[in-house]
Amino acid sequence: KKYIANEARYEKMNYRRTGNSGLLLPELSLGLWHNFGRNDDFKNARNLLKCAFDNGITHFDLANNYGPPYGSAETTFGKILKKDFKKYRDELIISSKAGYDMWPGPYGDLGSKKYLVSSLDQSLKRMGLDYVDIFYHHRPDNETPLEETMGALDLIVRQGKALYVGISNYRPERAAEAFKILKDLGTPCLIHQPRYSMLDRWVEDGLLDLLGNEGVGAIPFSPLGQGMLTDKYLNGFPEDSRAVKDGRYLKTDQINTQIDKIRALNEIAKERGQSMAQMAISWILKDERITSVLIGASKTEQILDSLKATENTNFSKEELDRIEGILK
Ligand code: NDP
Repeated sequence: KKYIANEARYEKMNYRRTGNSGLLLPELSLGLWHNFGRNDDFKNARNLLKCAFDNGITHFDLANNYGPPYGSAETTFGKILKKDFKKYRDELIISSKAGYDMWPGPYGDLGSKKYLVSSLDQSLKRMGLDYVDIFYHHRPDNETPLEETMGALDLIVRQGKALYVGISNYRPERAAEAFKILKDLGTPCLIHQPRYSMLDRWVEDGLLDLLGNEGVGAIPFSPLGQGMLTDKYLNGFPEDSRAVKDGRYLKTDQINTQIDKIRALNEIAKERGQSMAQMAISWILKDERITSVLIGASKTEQILDSLKATENTNFSKEELDRIEGILK
């Protein structure tokens, strides 16, 4: 059946400016790290993207090695783009990345020009695209001169293979150097993608200040701590949860050590009239330096639940103090 996007898709979503750039991003964006691999349910993958776009989520985030196997999330995404989103290409912001392990040998990892340029060429083929909207260096590489890695990002933009560039997982000092090099090259850094949630707050120690001062956007990933900051683990480990079904990146031990905090946070969420997931997302969106919160989802209901976070991003001083007390 032919997909026709919901006509009301832009009515509810807020769009925030990405740093000092001309690009607006939705307050929620959807990542394809999980649930879009070769062995994931294709129909579900398709429904996730449609549900997101129907509700104003215009930004889909990928990377070369999302799957498993590596590359397969981009292949799945390419198929769905072709089937359903062809005529909506200009309404979408599609990102990809390179920087982690991708193919064997010395040219399929880290931060050389050789790796970044050839990896993006592969990503474009898998997705059936002429260009991505944002291309990221996925993690810092201290062995490669930063001039080379940033030079590769600048080259990619000049070649027309990406419109904007970003960096991910860079600490503040290295990020500041990268911004300077990119600015001098004439391809300013659009956005930084760090991990940030109530359970992992390293960005508050200098990175958000840097991004605010430099006019670079911020798009935190794993805002729900991969699902920990929801109500799903309050009564054990559901069979269909990431911790049980996948377990590569989210371990049950990790959840056990955090569960008391999550229980306490869940009580505050209830008082606010939010689900735990909604409060975790709202809590990030309260900071205006945040451009967009990059969620994942295994079910369309989760997207619909998380979207409601944008309806209440204000916290009273008392709520914030209580949250701090729990997180300490
Ligand atoms: P989240 O912290 O949002 O976790 C998403 C998971 O939480 C879902 O797959 C689902 O898990 C569960 N969930 C989501 N919403 C709800 C809800 N409303 N109620 C209950 N459970 C819910 O983010 P991810 O860890 O998935 O990361 C998001 C994106 O960030 C990735 O897809 C990727 O694009 C990006 N990313 C970037 C990285 C980088 O290095 N730059 C690293 C990691 C991610 P379940 O399967 O249990 O249902």
